[in-house]
Amino acid sequence: MAIREIVTMKDEVLLRRISREVTVFDAKLKLLIDDMWDTLYKAQGYGLAAPQIGIIRRIAVIDYEGRKLVLINPKILKAEGTTTDYEGCLSVRAKNLLVDRHKRITVLNHRLDGSAYKFEASNFFARVIQHEMDHFEGVLYIDKGYEEE
Ligand SMILES: [Zn+2]
Repeated sequence: MAIREIVTMKDEVLLRRISREVTVFDAKLKLLIDDMWDTLYKAQGYGLAAPQIGIIRRIAVIDYEGRKLVLINPKILKAEGTTTDYEGCLSVRAKNLLVDRHKRITVLNHRLDGSAYKFEASNFFARVIQHEMDHFEGVLYIDKGYEEE
């Protein structure tokens, strides 16, 4: 277990890279995810994507009000509705902005052993998932965010 350094806008080039899929589901992946949990809890955020610790892979950990989730190679299969709320990011030291997100999503995800499963999420939990998945595309909330009129 170890706390990793969180990449900030000072190293924006890392945050803008497109993450590769996880192809090897081994003990090293498990250790990386353990480190990501430690780093997330130290930073007190809702979610942390691997690119935020300089690992350009499609992995994220989320703990939103006790609802824990590890994302590995996730894909959104279905999305419904729109919801708007404030977001921030552990990598971006700027003010929180309003971001439009899908209200409900169906996600194809993978377990640590590589097996696939589907789940549904809605509201702020779905928001955190979409925020973390944007990190895999090099997209940050400040790209989409806006201020209240
Ligand atoms: Zn973020």
